[in-house]
Amino acid sequence: MSDLTMTIGGEAVQASALFDVFDPATDEVCGQAPDCSSEQLDQAMRAAQAAFPAWSADEQARADALRRASEAIQDAAEELAVTLVREQGKPLADARLEVGGAAARLRFAADLRLEPEVLQDDEQALAVLHRRPLGVIAAISPWNAPLIISMAKVGPALAAGNTVVLKPSPFTPLSTLRLGELLREVFPPGAFNVVSGKDGALGAQMTQHPTPRMVDFTGSINTGKLVAQSAAGDLKRVALELGGNDPAIALADANPGELADRVFWGAFANCGQVCVAIKRLYVPRERYGDWVDALASVATATPVGPGLEEGVRIGPLNNRPQAQHVKQLVDDAIGHGATAAAGGARIDRPGNFFAPTIIAGASDGTAIVDDEQFGPALPVVPYESLDEALAAANATHYGLGGSVWSADPERAAQVAGQLECGTAWINTHKVLAAHIPFVGMKWSGYGGNSGTEGFHEFTASQVLYTQR
Ligand code: NAD
Repeated sequence: MSDLTMTIGGEAVQASALFDVFDPATDEVCGQAPDCSSEQLDQAMRAAQAAFPAWSADEQARADALRRASEAIQDAAEELAVTLVREQGKPLADARLEVGGAAARLRFAADLRLEPEVLQDDEQALAVLHRRPLGVIAAISPWNAPLIISMAKVGPALAAGNTVVLKPSPFTPLSTLRLGELLREVFPPGAFNVVSGKDGALGAQMTQHPTPRMVDFTGSINTGKLVAQSAAGDLKRVALELGGNDPAIALADANPGELADRVFWGAFANCGQVCVAIKRLYVPRERYGDWVDALASVATATPVGPGLEEGVRIGPLNNRPQAQHVKQLVDDAIGHGATAAAGGARIDRPGNFFAPTIIAGASDGTAIVDDEQFGPALPVVPYESLDEALAAANATHYGLGGSVWSADPERAAQVAGQLECGTAWINTHKVLAAHIPFVGMKWSGYGGNSGTEGFHEFTASQVLYTQR
């Protein structure tokens, strides 16, 4: 995979320098990607700007193109899924789901319409709210789910009449570059551009660039703050989908034997590298041992290995810095007196494999509880009273998701409503959908992509007011 090209103005563009992409299951180079120069980024921005007038003028053409783009992804689903496994590490079944989800996001976007809204219609005046596209959108994605996250941005951004310059993470550029190639024939030149760079510098250039009117960013809180600062220079709009440290609270009537499997996958899907994974679990003190044992037996029984190997459910961590981060948090917890009821260490083989880990005896104040691990290690924390559990769950700058688990869903919903987070699930976790808004609270960000609310993020309001 060394001949993948960027997509700029509908053309294949190669860079003078390439960078290596590593297969996290082997540590070996699995492809190379172009390192976009600043001239090439200018070229992409100019192409997107030039495509904007025609693209924004024809809603039906946009809907048709988005539908065809969704079909083009489906037609190439297996190739994209295998590329995704090679660069990202996730099991093939999960990669297939991600590719299907990416296609579904574009199909959903094809049906989005900018409906005018009558605000006043009386003898005094007619006031109508219209939503207008913004112009060029700079879209920046992380490495954990590059295709679906990118298409969750690109779909509604394009549907609203904007044009896009998309940048994937340097850890996982290959599947997105390939997707750009596949969609070259589908979108008019310049409407959808894909550029790649060897580090975050290209992202920073995009946020500083004078052309885009909005930056749609998904990634870590630290980078999100830099994006917000940088975009403030010329008051670009910003949508920030950032990190989380989601709490799950099991009520006393939640049965660990029945629920452990579901809770486990809420935390460990994609090797824990999900923004809305369960990242700390609060359970009643009297059921503590049962929860830890039940989760540890699921962890121990789960097949871990290369994503292309049959039967594997958890792959490697995507990259070395992330593997190092998870190891440090686990070592720190154990150094502070916690124990690993399952896992607890890297798996001794090439690649970034870490054993699914259940941490017992870590409390709030330990880094693995307070910070985002974004990896396969879940701390289980006992609580004495529900008030104490809620206070601990909310005592954080994070506010992405949370969940409450109980045999009594109504009571659980009352508790869930007290969590300070954008989505609070009951008896499940991390379920996301194109039609449901997904926005964080606090430092987990603002301005999402999903649902009607997310669609409207890509527009500016304009009121037409007619005096009568
Ligand atoms: P990251 O912030 O390191 O990188 C994200 C993207 O930003 C990459 O494309 C990177 O190259 C780019 N970038 C780096 N420096 C930049 C800069 N100065 N300006 C602009 N762009 C820059 O995040 P990551 O490690 O790729 O992703 C993991 C994080 O993303 C986790 O915290 C996770 O929770 C979060 N995340 C959030 C969501 C969500 O929807 N809320 C979804 C997935 C991941």
